[in-house]
Formats: sequence, structure tokens, C-alpha cells
Amino acid sequence: MLKYWKEMLTGSVPVLLLFLWYVGVNVVPILLAGAVAGLLLFAVRTRGQLPVPGGGKAPRKQPAALTFDEIGGQERAKQELMEALEFLIRPDEIARFGIRPLKGILLTGPPGTGKTLLAKAAAHHTDSVFVAASGSEFVEMYVGVGASRIRELFREARQKARKAGKNSAIIFIDEIDVIGGRRDGGQHREYDQTLNQLLTEMDGIQANESPRILLIAATNRKDMLDSALLRPGRFDRHIAVDLPDKKGRRHILSIHAAGKPLGKTADLDKVAEETFGFSGAQLESVLNEAAIYAMREESDTIEMHHLTMAIDKVMMGEKTDREATREERERVALHELGHAIMAELVRPGSVSTVALSPRGQALGYVRHNPQQDRYLYTAEYLEGQIMVALAGAAAEELFFGGRSTGSRSDFEQALGIVRTMVESGLTELGIVDPGMLTPETFSRVARDLLDRLMEKTKACLREHRDVFERSLELLMREETLSGDRFREFLRGPVQAGA
Ligand code: ATP
Repeated sequence: MLKYWKEMLTGSVPVLLLFLWYVGVNVVPILLAGAVAGLLLFAVRTRGQLPVPGGGKAPRKQPAALTFDEIGGQERAKQELMEALEFLIRPDEIARFGIRPLKGILLTGPPGTGKTLLAKAAAHHTDSVFVAASGSEFVEMYVGVGASRIRELFREARQKARKAGKNSAIIFIDEIDVIGGRRDGGQHREYDQTLNQLLTEMDGIQANESPRILLIAATNRKDMLDSALLRPGRFDRHIAVDLPDKKGRRHILSIHAAGKPLGKTADLDKVAEETFGFSGAQLESVLNEAAIYAMREESDTIEMHHLTMAIDKVMMGEKTDREATREERERVALHELGHAIMAELVRPGSVSTVALSPRGQALGYVRHNPQQDRYLYTAEYLEGQIMVALAGAAAEELFFGGRSTGSRSDFEQALGIVRTMVESGLTELGIVDPGMLTPETFSRVARDLLDRLMEKTKACLREHRDVFERSLELLMREETLSGDRFREFLRGPVQAGA
């Protein structure tokens, strides 16, 4: 009965008012009083001061706090960050030693490596409130808006900390290079004002204030930052957040695999091996895509082939259904076989799959077996890599008498390797200052080196012409050749007789 009190009230009040009016009572004051009371009630309720009937004020949902344990790899970055955060956790000792407290920490590294995660975990670790913004949010056409947003950000952090009863607040600014790029004193007045305001706010942070403010900023362009930002007393602690190594990748994979039904064949060690150069964000994406593939196949569990398909997708993009002509397909097949043959000659056993299915921008691709993570390369190794990159175009020349636009990205890759060689003093130029190198000199060295390696590649492929002929039909028909199958073709009469 009581639960219908609203409906009963809504029905009986107008009837009562009508009756009073009928018997001659002046109902206008009652109506006015009712309206005022209603308005007051509404105002108080929307400010959240009055308990909502049937359950009190609904609690605001807080996102789950993130801990350092939920960040895979990055052990060195985590360690350095935790050390830097000591001053927020042990302020008395820091004061006793007279240590200048830290105002800013700069996290540098490629996208998707966990910089935002580290900043969030830092807030949890130090029991601080967390306020985040991105550099691009401060960029406006109107001069002064960015600067006032910076002021607002600091004010918000202090207010939030006081409200939550915390002693400290961490302000995280992602993409700091957008506002913290070098000031040129002229054209970008808005950027300059925003940066000046940030510097002023940082200088205003007091050692003994409460709540204490710590800034954490992230960038992947540290070289672009204004030196005023990096000087002592500002962002003077720099922590590199690099792409994870194999152990780190395995750790990240296991974090994101939690709660996913992995099947018996799913081997995360192998996935970690095959994903050299992947960021944490890409690894998360691999597991997510694998789960989608498994669901689409109506499989109960995520198996290794789902993970392999997901790696290909994250590496090269989704399969597309571009229709190619037979001639085009043949050209792509020979191009990919060229890469595969050269890869086997340079590094035997390295081909994992040769595929003729379009993905992302590519019409075909060769997937390589995992290599050991390596950080040092010899000139010989790099020349081998260039030959593998050039082998697609070399194969096209061999069979069609000319190249196509399909080699563009191969050439970009080859030129990238040449640049590394030049900068590392591995070319005929010897040790050079890359900044003093004229484009003409680089072009000459690159052309000489690439021409020489192209001739060498063509000579190698010419010797293996029959491997192309033997494997082409099967690749055209089946669209993929496993590494083992391909090596069988390679071990044919040419190798035997060689
Ligand atoms: P950006 O420079 O693009 O802002 P970022 O370095 O800040 O990238 P995050 O936003 O921290 O990267 O990471 C993006 C996502 O990638 C995370 O939400 C998480 O799912 C995953 N990720 C990245 N690195 C890690 C890691 N080390 N451990 C676990 N997950 C990670």
C-alpha cells in the first residue's frame, strides 16, 4: 500500500484542491506555497544533499586502482619510479636530509608501452589522487585558454586531494611535447603562454604545502622538449619506458590472458617469442583479437591458431578481399617467394609462412620465425637484411623484366637500414656526424650500396630459379605455404647439385 503513496498523493491533492475551491476557499496561496516547496526540494536534491528515497545517496563509482603488479615487464622503469616516489611516502626523512623534493617526472618511450599505466600505479602506490590531461587538450585557437586550463588543472588536483582527505595529488600530462615543444618566441604564442603557465605552476609548488603536487608527464619526443622544462627543479627525473623484451612480453601476455579461456595448444611463450618489437598495447590487442577469432569460430577456448592469426592481424592489418587479376597474383607470389628464398639463404630456417592473401596494404607477405631479441647488429647482418628486403623487387625483375609499385615499403625498409649503417659508421664513409651529412652524400652512398646488394641478390635468386617454378603453382592454389613445406622445395635439385 505504502509503495503507491506517490500515485495516491498525485490523485487526491488535485481532488482536495477542487473541493476547497468549490466550497469557496481561496486556494491560490496553497498553490503558491506548494510550488515554492517543490522548487526547493528539487534544488536540494539535484545538489545531492538530500538522501534519495529508497537507498540514500548513490555512491560515485571509482575506477579500480591500478597497482605496479598489473604492469608487465618494465621492471627497471617501475623500480626507478618507485624510488623517485619515496619522497611522497617518506616526507619526514626527505626533509631531515634536506633533499629537494621532486616536482616532475618525465616518462619517455614509444606509444603503448604503459606510461599512463605507470602514472596511475604511482598514484595508487603513494595514496595520491590522480588527475590526468593530454597536451592536445590545451591547444586552442584563442590565446590564453591553454594557460587558464593549466591553472584549472592544478586547482582541480588540490581540490580533489583535499576533498578525498589525501596528502598528495599526481597530475599526469600525456603528450607533453604538444605544449612543451621548444618556444620559438613568435608564431606560436598560444603554445608559449601555456608552457609558461605550466612552468609558473611548477615553480609555485612548495616543499611543505599540503596537498603535495607531483607532475608526471609522458612523451615519445623528448628531443622536442623546451630545455626550460627539463632543467633541475622541473622535469629533472627522466625514466625510459621502452618496448618490452621477451620476458616482459611474456609477463604482459599473462596479465592480459587472465580471465580468458586459453586452450591446451595456446603457448604464450611462443607468442612472446614471435612478437619481437610489439608494445604492451599491441600485445593486449593480440589477446583480444585472438578471443574474437575464437568466438567467431564458436570455439570454447582460445587456441594457438587464433593467437597466430591475431599476431598477423596486429602486425599487418585485417585481411582484405581485394580482387587481384591472375597476372597480379602471379607477380605478388613471385615477389614473396623472392623474399622467402633470400631469407632462407641469409638465415636458414627463418621462414615461418609465405602467404598470398591481402592484408592491410600488402597483397602478400612472408612471416619470419622468431629471432632472439638482439640489440647489436653487424654490417654483414644488416646487408643480409637489405638483401631480403630487395629480393621481392629482384624476383619481379627476373621474371617480368621490370619492377612494380609493390616494392615501395621494401625500399623504405632498405633505406632505413642504410641510414642506420651510415650513422653507425658501417659504410665506406667511415665515422661521420649524421648532422653534417648532406642529402647528396647520403643518396650517393645509399645508391652505391643498394645497387651492389641488388646485383648480389639477383645473382642468388637466378641460381634458385627452379625453386620459384616449383613452388609457384602451389602457392597460387593454396595461398599459404608453411616454412617447412617451402624448405622442402628449397632442398630440391638446385641445393643438392650446388
Ligand atoms: P601513449 O604514449 O600512446 O599514450 P602509453 O605508453 O601511455 O601510450 P598506456 O596508455 O599506458 O600506454 O597503455 C595502453 C594499453 O596497453 C593499456 O591500457 C594496457 O592494456 C596495455 N599495456 C601497455 N603496456 C603495458 C604493460 N607494460 N603491461 C600491461 N599492459 C600494458
